[in-house]
Amino acid sequence: MTQNSQKSTCSYCGVGCGILVKKDANDKVMVEGDPDHPVNRGMLCSKGRNLHYVVNDTSDRLLHPQMRWSRSHPLEQVSWDTALDRAAQVFKSVIKQHGPDSVGFYVSGQCLTEEYYIANKLVKGFLGTNNIDTNSRLCMSSAVVGYKKTFGEDSVPIAYADIELADCFLITGANPAWCHPILFRRIEQHKEKKPDVKIIVIDPRRTDSAMYADLHLQLIPGTDIILYNAIGRRLLERGLIDKEFINNHTEGFASYKEQVTKTSLKEAARLCGVPLNDIKKAADLIGLSKAFISMWAMGLNQSVVGTNKNFALLNLSLITGQVGKPGSGPFSLTGQPNAMGGREVGGMANLLAVHKDLMNPEHRREVAQFWGVDEISPKPGYTATEMFEALETGKLKAIWIICTNPAVSLPDLLRVEKALKNARFVVVQDISNKADTLEYADLVLPAAGWLEKEGTMTNSERRISYLPKLVEAPGEARPDVEILCDFAKRMGFKAFNYYNTEEIYQEYCAMTKGTHIDISFLNYDRLKTEGTFQWPVNEYRHPGTARLFEDKKFYTPSQKAIFNIPYTITNRSIMPSESFPLILTTGRVRDQWHTMTKTGKVSRLKTHYPKPVLEINPSDAFVLNIREGYIVEVSSENGSVRVKATLTDNVRKGVVFLPMHWGKKLGQNLNRANNLTQNMVDPQSKEPDFKFTAVRVENYKKK
Ligand code: SF4
Repeated sequence: MTQNSQKSTCSYCGVGCGILVKKDANDKVMVEGDPDHPVNRGMLCSKGRNLHYVVNDTSDRLLHPQMRWSRSHPLEQVSWDTALDRAAQVFKSVIKQHGPDSVGFYVSGQCLTEEYYIANKLVKGFLGTNNIDTNSRLCMSSAVVGYKKTFGEDSVPIAYADIELADCFLITGANPAWCHPILFRRIEQHKEKKPDVKIIVIDPRRTDSAMYADLHLQLIPGTDIILYNAIGRRLLERGLIDKEFINNHTEGFASYKEQVTKTSLKEAARLCGVPLNDIKKAADLIGLSKAFISMWAMGLNQSVVGTNKNFALLNLSLITGQVGKPGSGPFSLTGQPNAMGGREVGGMANLLAVHKDLMNPEHRREVAQFWGVDEISPKPGYTATEMFEALETGKLKAIWIICTNPAVSLPDLLRVEKALKNARFVVVQDISNKADTLEYADLVLPAAGWLEKEGTMTNSERRISYLPKLVEAPGEARPDVEILCDFAKRMGFKAFNYYNTEEIYQEYCAMTKGTHIDISFLNYDRLKTEGTFQWPVNEYRHPGTARLFEDKKFYTPSQKAIFNIPYTITNRSIMPSESFPLILTTGRVRDQWHTMTKTGKVSRLKTHYPKPVLEINPSDAFVLNIREGYIVEVSSENGSVRVKATLTDNVRKGVVFLPMHWGKKLGQNLNRANNLTQNMVDPQSKEPDFKFTAVRVENYKKK
């Protein structure tokens, strides 16, 4: 399909696979993997291979703006002028009455960088509030804090090219075999060529990734920090540490040593529920390897102690000196295609663009000056869950939701629904009429989707790609940047008169100049003609930067990496009790994506895991008189769901698993995993605790 095909990037996970797009004689889109792309070399996973269905089938698309005059009225089709005039009128009136902090924007890691940038400029620079947060808060904000505190900035030090140079992988709190499949395929291919390469998986579930590993430590949920510290202790005891690196390039080692030596290996094994010998074996594999990569995702991040888990894991890279070297480094995996781009433009309530810090007055002044505004508010905005709490209490009056479906994806959904009902004004800007959040919208704005607009994205390894517009959006759908700029102008802000998307990109690039994420020498022309680049790209003809910190100069004031000491080694979730004796962990299945508004319309993606089922260990099922296929009622302090059970020792005794994708519109009515999860967050990252909820499981009725 190379003739007349155009290059783009997959719109699903953060791996960022290259795609070739072509149209057939009927103008239908066809896709295949780009054999020349450095990420996937022609490979695509099941989701990527079926992307054309999502583009070609417009039967679910939102085609026209819709508005209701009051909650008792149905939504009715209106013109763009009517819709955006109303939005501007309501936002002006709410801000005038209640101040700028009474409005908020909730955006998405699926937004393109230009969209993310404009939304942040609008909210932080011109509306005068920092109430803009993203659904990426739900998947990687703990990793952001981990990187910032360890390396001085939110900087992923590694490249996918390091995979083929590594000889030991520690995959923990992630199932890349299902959720980052092409990345995992590269690990498999590497191991096929070099069987001595070792893979360790730490996960309470025996996932497909764990089944492929040389060693699986099936720990009790929430005991991660104890386990990483135990591995650290064993490395110390065996002298498998890099003293030169520790002495010359780190700070805080003495405190680290003090913490990890407090718990004996035997005690750690008992607390984590793993064999002592497996801890020793894991440490020896890591310590004796020449190039070690740790890889993690939401299993670590989505926890009330998520940042502490990140610290404990990052410390293993520091103690072994495995940073800034070929084939080594810590590597957090992003779940969404542009979660990284969002981080770059400051797309969170506590961040500013180009890795500047909202709490730093000088940084605020610099950003305000760049945007030509008097000041940026010093008050941190509401984070994802805080925003919905504020809607519930009435502190937040109006919310604008872009490209995300919080009525399925946030924790404690019954509370989220209450919050949305309580809001004075809800704008939903999306592509699909299958998003449950639409039920609460006062204003619906149809957005252009993948291939229907241009812009850039950054994948998990800091690789920026350009996505061209290749097809027309259906109906009256418009690119998100156009919608936001149009709204901004109606609010009276003159700084949103862009000629095109490229001009927005150039403005952002100018802002990066002189920073650690400098891409001032990377324009659309280079991206279109030369392909993808890893930031920074800070000189004329610069080829991009595969690996950071090769000079061992970190971005902290001392230029040393910091051992951060977890303030607790134990979990702080609500523990199981007599009433709720089991631990529920939620997660993803191989062929579905987020709340299924895209993958849910591809029938062949439904065959692998057609319905949500509760995975339960046979010994727990036996006690509860539950057999394969029985309907069970799962209850937590927040709510309950009824689903079929499947018996499997892939989950350990005392643990149950339920996937999170299904919402009301996709046929599960109220039986959604997030009815059960708690509205509890990590105090530093504000990331919710999706991986540990105390539940009760009862035999509801026999199948
Ligand atoms: Fe798309 Fe991720 Fe699959 Fe690659 S691995 S094809 S980016 S979903």
